[in-house]
Amino acid sequence: MSSPEPHIQEYPRSLGRARRHVLSVVVPVLNEERGLEPLIGRLKPVLDGLDVDWEVVFVDDGSSDGTLGRLRALNALDGRFKAISLSRNFGKEIATAAGLSYVTGDAAVLMDADLQHPPELIRDFFAHWRAGFEIVYGQRRDRDADTFLHRWAARAFYLTFQKLSGTALPAGAGDFRLLDRKAVDAMNRMRERVRFNKGLFAWMGFRSIGVPFKVPPRYGSGGSRWRPRQLLRFGLDGIASFTTIPLRVWSYLGLLISLFAFVYAALFLLKTLLFGIDVPGFPTLVISVMFFAGVQLLSLGIIGEYLGRIYEEVKGRPLYIVSEVLGIEPEVARPKASTSAEPHAQ
Ligand code: UDP
Ligand code: MG
Repeated sequence: MSSPEPHIQEYPRSLGRARRHVLSVVVPVLNEERGLEPLIGRLKPVLDGLDVDWEVVFVDDGSSDGTLGRLRALNALDGRFKAISLSRNFGKEIATAAGLSYVTGDAAVLMDADLQHPPELIRDFFAHWRAGFEIVYGQRRDRDADTFLHRWAARAFYLTFQKLSGTALPAGAGDFRLLDRKAVDAMNRMRERVRFNKGLFAWMGFRSIGVPFKVPPRYGSGGSRWRPRQLLRFGLDGIASFTTIPLRVWSYLGLLISLFAFVYAALFLLKTLLFGIDVPGFPTLVISVMFFAGVQLLSLGIIGEYLGRIYEEVKGRPLYIVSEVLGIEPEVARPKASTSAEPHAQ
């Protein structure tokens, strides 16, 4: 039998004083052809300025423009820019997970490609990490770049999430962050398909600190890659993967309604005994039948949501499928059976 956690790699951190730290940067990219150059223009000087060896692992999340071609050229030019290409679009959360299972660093920075995560902040992340923090996250000071509705929805979501799940998400914390190797390994052990990264980071614990920053507008073509329907889905996934309260609330509601019905029946009986039968009351009947039919369908629907998720997880498909790896050493690119189906590096 193989070991129970075959995909976790041990990276000894104390190979003598002479060993330099390695910092990895993971960048999921979807159709960022034009954004890559400006990103690298700012990222490379920052990384070169730190006292570390570094690598940047791009995860091409099924781009349909020239992103992959650019990444190939980049890798040919400088081997420290590596990439994996997923076989189709799997979504940013899964792309990030894919990237994290390929990094070799003692710490890994997660960032977006659209320069909404200023690369210069990595210096502060790094300093905090050297000072002993295991997770350093970028904390958005304002969300001017977002619409009012977006901001309002985000606030409502975080509040609901916190109340229901009991896992507090630090205010303004997003995906832009540095994870120590310990946290990277912990992330790699979480195999759920429905991945709500913000929640997973908070759930993991570890010594964490926030670094405030202002979110600049998105660089490059188009707006956010998220569509409202995807955002709603994302929010629901987040809540459903962290709490089962929506499932349980129906038992309480059912109890309450039954109690009400019981009292009502008793009163009705009393009234009939005292004053005899009167026929009116038909509207009440129709309204209550409709109301309870609605409540039942809603609760069934919620059970269905969870059941669907159980089905997804139980199928045990790989999280993502890699079609190509660029510049990744074979021992890092070996298939990790539990989370993914990946080819060997050629
Ligand atoms: N992204 C991705 N897969 C997707 C959607 C987005 O890899 O399905 C990448 C995108 O290229 C960018 C990052 O995730 O580097 C953040 O995307 P975006 O700026 O659209 O999201 P937002 O800033 O609105 O959260
Ligand atoms: Mg963005």
